[in-house]
Amino acid sequence: MLNSVFQMLTVRDREYLRAIFALSGSQKPVGPVLLADKMGVSKECAFQEMRRLDVLGYGEYVLRKGLKLNKLAISIVENDFKKHHFFEKFLQETLGMTHEEACHESSRIDPFVSEYLMQSIYNKTGTLRNGSCGCRMKTPLNPNDLKGCHWINESL
Ligand SMILES: [Zn+2]
Repeated sequence: MLNSVFQMLTVRDREYLRAIFALSGSQKPVGPVLLADKMGVSKECAFQEMRRLDVLGYGEYVLRKGLKLNKLAISIVENDFKKHHFFEKFLQETLGMTHEEACHESSRIDPFVSEYLMQSIYNKTGTLRNGSCGCRMKTPLNPNDLKGCHWINESL
């Protein structure tokens, strides 16, 4: 059931969820001006996307305040965060790629990696305490933990 929900989200939707999360949208509503600035889009564009995420069931948009992410949205950001770092580490360890190469390849593929493949990668890499960028791999994820993370900074 969760899989069908995930499929409704585009890669772009996921980037927006990530940006809202980085702006502490899991703790308080984030307004369209702030999001537009972070994403480099117009305020109207950010507003439309936030309305869309509300309709799709990823949070509640409150007029004049913004969008606050719900548990489902947070779980998607956490899952994407894990996927990226684990897959990156896997590429470095098994194919001998540099962090930069592994990061680039992981970014292109990670939205499409299945749960089955991810589980196989988890089994291979084992527990990951830190990502290659040094960020702490733990859930629940705190927006402050992501300040130094390349995944959140470079992909937006
Ligand atoms: Zn990376």
